[in-house]
Amino acid sequence: IKRKHSGSDLTIFSEMSALALKHSAVNLSQGFPDYEIDERLKKLLAEATMKNFNQYAPMPGNQLLIENLITFNSHRKIPIEVAKENVTISPGASYGIYTALAAILNVGDEVIVLEPNYDSYVPSIEINGGIPVFVSLTDDFRVNFAALGKAINHKTKAIIINSPHNPSGKVWRKEDFDQLAELVEDSQIIIISDEVYDLLTYDETEFYSAFQHPKLRERCFSIFSFGKMFHITGWKVGYVLASEELTSAYRRIHQYLAFSVNAPAQYALAKYLEIFKVEENRKSMQLKRDFFLDAFKDLPFNIKLKAESGYFQIMGYEKISQLSDKDFAVWLTETAKVASIPVSAFYHENRDTFSVRFCFAKKEETVLEAVRNLEKYL
Ligand code: PMP
Ligand code: GLN
Repeated sequence: IKRKHSGSDLTIFSEMSALALKHSAVNLSQGFPDYEIDERLKKLLAEATMKNFNQYAPMPGNQLLIENLITFNSHRKIPIEVAKENVTISPGASYGIYTALAAILNVGDEVIVLEPNYDSYVPSIEINGGIPVFVSLTDDFRVNFAALGKAINHKTKAIIINSPHNPSGKVWRKEDFDQLAELVEDSQIIIISDEVYDLLTYDETEFYSAFQHPKLRERCFSIFSFGKMFHITGWKVGYVLASEELTSAYRRIHQYLAFSVNAPAQYALAKYLEIFKVEENRKSMQLKRDFFLDAFKDLPFNIKLKAESGYFQIMGYEKISQLSDKDFAVWLTETAKVASIPVSAFYHENRDTFSVRFCFAKKEETVLEAVRNLEKYL
């Protein structure tokens, strides 16, 4: 059997969740909510199967879902104007990223990845014959555009970017996109923009999509996930925005991979988009971030960057231990009974980050239980 990628045999998310289960630890590792989802979504899913949305959906996606996504995107604070030729429903964002890469890569093409990065990018590049080229973000998770510029050469086919960012919660500003646009202006480089936490930005931080940038729009895939939008990570449905040309290339692959996406889920998502309140959802997650930060404030962790977005907070533990972050995360799970993700898992080479990532998309009682467990040992 050929090993087609350099990723591990078991992802860090599966590994830490299994360890949490084994040791009955509070699981703040893998990013999934433990609170109830909106009852109306459950009802809509049941309604979908009763209304006979049980056979193959159209290859690009359920028509109503696509129409409602066009409206939804045009109603954002900074509107994203798209037509149906720009939207394809995908079975999750990871699949969207994979399929975008499959659509554009030839063997030997280079793809630039900004570290720390989500774990599916590198295997998805490699399985499709590409070569990942790594550029580190700065210590406070900004893009080093000088380093990015140096990494670009005639073999560079694409750059994968991720804002709002996992694991740091950093959000790119419009000026960052301006700088990126300038760097790629005279090239054919395609931008694959992972934007799964688009609706979860906090305080005054505004989400900006690569697809909103006039100079990037024609050369980017912007990839979204209903898993994070609606707190239903198990549904595994997302969508991909791209120019007509890139969408055609994407669909040429998609029609032979998944072909189409779970039909009842698409119906439910289409209907739910009509009643979903973006601002309410954003505020409730901001409250969760604030609750988490407040609950953890007397523990001896240090915060490098308060999460501007998303589900996660990175915490430094230099004052607690000299262990590597993986060993520390294992110790924390087995002994203190709280699971996290070591931040080194988001880098291609071993490095000591002395920090772990906690998921705050949890019930208040879950966070409080984690704090009680930690207080006994820290
Ligand atoms: N990208 C990032 C940054 C993520 O955190 C995740 C996990 N939600 C994904 C992609 C994958 O999303 P999905 O479950 O929709 O495949
Ligand atoms: N996106 C989730 C996280 O970052 C993990 C999803 C997965 O398990 N692959 O925790």
